[in-house]
Formats: sequence, C-alpha cells, structure tokens
Amino acid sequence: MIMKNKDLEYFRKMMTRWQEDLYKQSDVTFTDLQEPTVKAIDPVDQASLEETRAFTLRIRNRERRLIGKINQSLARIEEGTFGICDMCGKKISVQRLKARPVTNFCITCKNKREELEETIGM
Ligand SMILES: [Zn+2]
Repeated sequence: MIMKNKDLEYFRKMMTRWQEDLYKQSDVTFTDLQEPTVKAIDPVDQASLEETRAFTLRIRNRERRLIGKINQSLARIEEGTFGICDMCGKKISVQRLKARPVTNFCITCKNKREELEETIGM
C-alpha cells in the first residue's frame, strides 16, 4: 500500500464530490447553451452573445478535461497506483496531492517537464 487508507479515502471522497460539482456545473452550462437564442437585432448584442457562447464552450471543455482527469485519478485509487509519479515511480507527497489531486507527477518531475516543454516548445 502506497498511501494510508485514511488518505486514500480522503482523496476518493474529495474527488468524487469535486466531480459531482463539475457535473452539476456543466449541466447548468449545457442548459444555458440550449436556451433558444434571443433573436438579436442589434449586431453588437449578437457579437456579445457569440462571445458568451465561445466563453461557455471554453469553460465546458476545461470542465470536461478536468472530469476526465478526476476519473483517471479515481481509477488510480482503485488500482492502487494513486500518488505514484508517472515518470520516476516515486511517491508524490500528500501535501502536493492535496493542492493538486489530479497530478500524475511528483514536484521534481513536474518541474523537469516544464523545463523541457519550455525548451522544445511543447
Ligand atoms: Zn517523479
């Protein structure tokens, strides 16, 4: 066991709740998008409507990605690989996981990756 059961349970609960919140939020956003578009006579209104729509879509995409990440992390809890760094296989500190539960990397590898991404422009 990589992590104490108590900690695992904490993360499982926390991420399940987080996911539920996100689902609820994206439901709301979805309904917003579904609403019949007000026939905007003013082109300015039309433009800002499009802007709002694009913005909502961006947020929805981000939410969907996050939900996916949380799903992955929950699966990792089930598999018993939660809290292990994908790159070096070492334990990720509970402190770091509490700040960023969906991370797959320890802080050292995360920093290395960021350096790499900057260098090769990923
Ligand atoms: Zn690592």
